[in-house]
Amino acid sequence: MSSNEPALSVTSLERGYQANAALRHAHGKAVVGMRARSSFKPILDGALVPVLPCEKCRDGGLRAIGTVRKGGCIQRAHACDTCGTVQLYELPHDVIP
Ligand SMILES: [Zn+2]
Repeated sequence: MSSNEPALSVTSLERGYQANAALRHAHGKAVVGMRARSSFKPILDGALVPVLPCEKCRDGGLRAIGTVRKGGCIQRAHACDTCGTVQLYELPHDVIP
C-alpha cells in the first residue's frame, strides 16, 4: 500500500467488481461461511458499495461481498481484505443492493 492512498477512516465508494477483485483470494472461514448461505447473493459488478474501515485489525478495509436475507430484511456482508473479519450491515428498505 502506498503512502499516497487516502486514509481508510474516510468511507469511500467503489464498484462491485473492485470489491470482488479485492476479495478473490479471501478464503477465511467467515467469508466462506457467508458465501455458503442459501440467501447469499454476490454483489453485482456495477453496484456502488462502500468500503468501511476495519475495526478489528485497523489496517484493512471491509469490502462488500454480497447480501444475505436475515429475519425478513436484507443485510450486506462486508469482509476485511486484510484479516478476513466479516460484518453484516442492515440496509435501508429503499436501497437496492
Ligand atoms: Zn481487518
